[in-house]
Amino acid sequence: MLNVILFGAPGSGKGTQSELLVKQYGLQHLSTGDLLRAEIQSGSELGKEIDELISKGNLVPDHKMVHLIAHYIDALPKDCKGVIFDGYPRTVEQADALTLLLRRRGMDSVMLELMVDEDEVIKRLLERGKTSGRADDNFDTIKKRLRIYQEVTKPVSAYYLKHHNYFLINGNYTVDLTFEQIDNILRLRGAKKESSTQKP
Ligand code: ADP
Repeated sequence: MLNVILFGAPGSGKGTQSELLVKQYGLQHLSTGDLLRAEIQSGSELGKEIDELISKGNLVPDHKMVHLIAHYIDALPKDCKGVIFDGYPRTVEQADALTLLLRRRGMDSVMLELMVDEDEVIKRLLERGKTSGRADDNFDTIKKRLRIYQEVTKPVSAYYLKHHNYFLINGNYTVDLTFEQIDNILRLRGAKKESSTQKP
């Protein structure tokens, strides 16, 4: 299985690149942000707790996230070609837990870090906020999310650099130029494209 961890600041383009990876490589997309927002939509007690945290730009506690991910991995279909982890892991504890979860199932992962300048991500998130309807896409919450990203999440990339397969992608360019870098890395690692998207 080809498990890809797409890593990067809020607004670095993880969701956009994930969509292309789903189409071209037939991978399953796990966006923890989407998963959590779906829980909020369901109106459950857990959803209310999550809403309180997310709307203020805070992270959901590790034990809740690890539980969610373990459940997701166990429910993967037998013929799954691989998973794109978008928004997970966001702490070193979550990274440790994922390594263990995958290893126990005989799986590994590769991390692709999307590097984008802070000015550019703020611009993108403010633009997204005009239509996303997300409570956390406003200037003050964006600033807080970026601070938490630098303090708590960024160390995860050093963890992967040390322990796993790690690649850096320049995400300041267009969607296509960013995807080209990802595509080259995956092809060099022997990943197979969906036949409908293969060049003749
Ligand atoms: P973005 O990457 O643009 O901030 P996401 O949709 O990935 O947006 O996540 C939105 C919010 O969901 C985060 O700010 C955080 O509150 C919560 N969240 C998502 N993934 C995790 C995670 N792995 N651990 C803790 N909280 C998370």
